[in-house]
Order: sequence, then structure tokens, then C-alpha cells
Amino acid sequence: MSAAQQPAIRVVWLYPELMNVYADRGNVIALEARCAALGVGCEVTRVGIGDPLPGEADLVLIGGGQDREQQRAAPDLARHAGTLRAWVDEDAAMLAVCGGFQLFGRWYRTAEGEELRGAAVFDVTTVAPPREEERCIGDVLAHSTLEAVGEVVGFENHGGRSYLGPGAEPFAHVEFGYGNNGADGAEGARVREAIGTYLHGSLLPRNPALTDHLIRAALRHRYGGEPELPEVADPFAERAHRTAAAVARRRSRRSET
Ligand code: GLN
Repeated sequence: MSAAQQPAIRVVWLYPELMNVYADRGNVIALEARCAALGVGCEVTRVGIGDPLPGEADLVLIGGGQDREQQRAAPDLARHAGTLRAWVDEDAAMLAVCGGFQLFGRWYRTAEGEELRGAAVFDVTTVAPPREEERCIGDVLAHSTLEAVGEVVGFENHGGRSYLGPGAEPFAHVEFGYGNNGADGAEGARVREAIGTYLHGSLLPRNPALTDHLIRAALRHRYGGEPELPEVADPFAERAHRTAAAVARRRSRRSET
């Protein structure tokens, strides 16, 4: 990249029509807005069922979906699993939310016992208990294992309980809310620059530090080295973050771990 050229990140958005509950597309909107504020180009390629993946990507996004949507997405995603894992090994950034996070794990077993094969980006498996069991629903406040990200807030609503294998570490530890399974305090997963999480909300509009983290990781992937970005405040996102954190503290269960 010459000094005169604007840097740009290449974003792949998987199943934008299908995997998009609780306004997960807000993540893409927030990403585009933040890139614009930082003077970074943001080229988004939407990849639906049957579409090919582009040759390269610096950041891959997938949102959440209920079991029915996941059943449609899973066989299609299987076509891309090898490429996605190769991209992770090359340190492309990823953000997979809820149903998308489950499908980026090894497998997800539904309450009816159907096993959906995942892309195995994360060493994670997910099991849904019988339907009559409590779902994990509510506002979450967690602390990311990524220092630059810090406190994260979001909304979770999932039946599936996820468990990390030795190849993944938690994205965060919950202080308020359920996280992966309501038992071990872990929230989401992380491997290299890929992040999986149960947090909707939308997530990025309320967690500007995470947005910046993803943009930086995507720029590193494309150009190498640590990107130099201008200092640009994001007061609305900061305020949204503080408000959501206060709501989670007031309304949600404190994690037992
Ligand atoms: N299958 C998921 C579940 O565990 C879907 C949740 C979601 O994406 N909101 O309920």
C-alpha cells in the first residue's frame, strides 16, 4: 500500500439473510461506520447459500440463527470449512455470533438429537438440553480475555450449551449472565484472531473496543505490521456500552464462578 492509498479491509459476511437474529446485521453497520471514521475502506462481500467464497478475506462475520436456519446453513457451510480453517491459520479475523458460533464449532446437537456438523474453526461442541429446560436468556456483562477489548456487553438467548476443548480459550469470562453453558463462566471462544461469542445486541454497536480490535486484526492480516490509526472517539458507542453494562448489572444473574 502506498502512503497515498487508503487502506481497506475485505469482509466476508456469511448468510446475511439466514443467520441474522437480534439485529446481528448491526455488527456490519457498526463496522462500516467505524471504518469510515478511521479512514479505512470496508469492502463487504455477502455470501449466501450456494455462493462461492471470494479468494481472500481479512475478516469473516456470521450472525446467529435458530435451529431451523442452522439446519439450512450447516450443509452449505461444510463446503467452506477447509477454506475458513486455512484463513484462521493465516490470522484472518473472524466474528461468529450465537448460532453462527455454534456452527463454527465442531458440532451442535439439537434438543431433538440431530447432529449438525460445524466448520471446526473452534474446538467447541454444543449440546441443546431437552426443550423444557431453561434457556440462557438475558443481558450479559463479561470480561474479555483480550486485554484491548476489556469489558464486553451483549444480549444472549440460546438453548445450546457450549463446551470448549483444549484448542480454544474463552473469549471472555461472564460476571453477569450465562455465557457458554451457565456453569463454567466461560463466554465464547477464541483461536488466533477468530472470535466466537453468544453475544448479540447488536454486539459491535455497544462494544467499540471490540470493533477496533477486529479492524486492527483485519488490517494486520492484509498489510502486516501494526496499523497506525487516528484517535477518533466514538461517544455514542461508549454511551451505549455503559447503558448496557448498567442494565446487565441490575437485571441479570451474577455468574457463580
Ligand atoms: N440453536 C441456537 C440455540 O441454542 C440458536 C440461538 C441463537 O442464535 N440465538 O438456541
